Amino acid sequence: MLTNPLTKNISKENTAADITQYLDNDGYQGWRKAHSMVPDDIINLVKDGGLRGRGGAGFNTGLKWSFVPRGEGSPEQKFVVCNADEMEPGTFKDRLLMERDPHLLLEGMAIAAYAIGASIGYIFIRGEYHLAAERLERAIEEAKSQGLIGKNIFDSDFSLEIFVHRSAGNYICGEETALLNALEGQRAIPRAKPPFPQVSGLWGKPTVVNNVETFCNIPHLVAYGVDWYRGLGVGQDAGSKIFGVSGKVKNPGTWELPMGTPIREIIEQYAGGMRDGLRLKGFLPGGGSTDFLGPDHLDLPMDYDVIGKAGSRMGTGTIIVLDDKTCPIGLVLNLTQFFARESCGWCTPCRDGLPWIVKVLQRIESGEGLPEDLELLHEQCKRIAPGKTFCALAPGAAEPIQSSLKLFEQDYIDHIKKGCCPYK
Ligand code: NAD
Repeated sequence: MLTNPLTKNISKENTAADITQYLDNDGYQGWRKAHSMVPDDIINLVKDGGLRGRGGAGFNTGLKWSFVPRGEGSPEQKFVVCNADEMEPGTFKDRLLMERDPHLLLEGMAIAAYAIGASIGYIFIRGEYHLAAERLERAIEEAKSQGLIGKNIFDSDFSLEIFVHRSAGNYICGEETALLNALEGQRAIPRAKPPFPQVSGLWGKPTVVNNVETFCNIPHLVAYGVDWYRGLGVGQDAGSKIFGVSGKVKNPGTWELPMGTPIREIIEQYAGGMRDGLRLKGFLPGGGSTDFLGPDHLDLPMDYDVIGKAGSRMGTGTIIVLDDKTCPIGLVLNLTQFFARESCGWCTPCRDGLPWIVKVLQRIESGEGLPEDLELLHEQCKRIAPGKTFCALAPGAAEPIQSSLKLFEQDYIDHIKKGCCPYK
């Protein structure tokens, strides 16, 4: 039975599955099957399959779809939106899927659109992802020419148009409501939630926003069913996932593996372990906006709730490894500079708080830190905690800072005592 549904079309020879290759390899079978089903049954199947959002938050996908109002009195126009604004530091999994198997994404979006009754889909793609955008645009034309999307699909009264929208470029556009504002041509700032987009999204209409990898899970889940899908995971969570590793390992990259694969296996077996002469000091399990975990956590399985209980988040599942010769404060400073630059400026704690944290980190890293700076950093992180800001950007940015203060406290103290960066 198939164990790598996300990457089965991706090989060294296949640089971009065109529609002939895709169809020859059972492509669009999930869509054909879904189209013969009652929409509610598709939503229940996705819910029961246990697919959790692969953008980073891990919300149950079928449950999200079930919030879209249906039936009499509900708005006629609905939208399905793919969040392809992949900008989380260290995250490069959606690019692989879009560049190498664009039809898988379109097929997943078609099923979602049919399930919730949407007739228009948008792929909101990171501005720098030129190749992926071109390949998606070509794939849309190919799928249209085969009657798989477009007007009166499979000779039914269901029609679906999909458009690629290139982002003008900002990390905050990946926040789903800022993304919707950007699509509407407004300033990309997050909206208050609730209402959630499923009820009031694009132009106030019901909208489902899912990540690229989430959509790519749908076709095979529908084609092969809940038991098969759940069986792909080896831990608590269902399905497979594209995990990745960056940092000073021998073989950085991405691999499709079962949900629940132990972190040690991903880093040591797939990423080849640390480069010669280096030891693992810590790692961010799912992109730059997650908490550091240490070597003691290497045997944990990559499952959402397990990583959550350990004090971090699985996030995007792309691990950033920190070695013992790289300054942890330098790494945290680099990440915080990114988040500060990418703040949309809408709420004060994020707009003003992050640059202040950058200043303090810079001071410590350059050897001019003061003993009271550690307390100051703790205090500043509290001011951008969840609930204090409009969206998850600043609380996410605080995660590596706070956890580094705990795990690498001695490094902070050494910088301040020695008046220099001991790693240089
Ligand atoms: P969130 O938990 O607020 O929401 C996740 C999804 O679930 C959203 O689609 C939201 O509409 C839905 N949802 C949550 N609660 C709901 C409710 N009560 N009713 C209805 N729907 C509900 O998280 P978020 O702010 O959307 O995303 C944060 C995550 O994004 C972080 O975990 C971070 O790792 C990740 N992220 C990823 C990237 C990337 O490039 N992939 C970039 C930045 C952040």
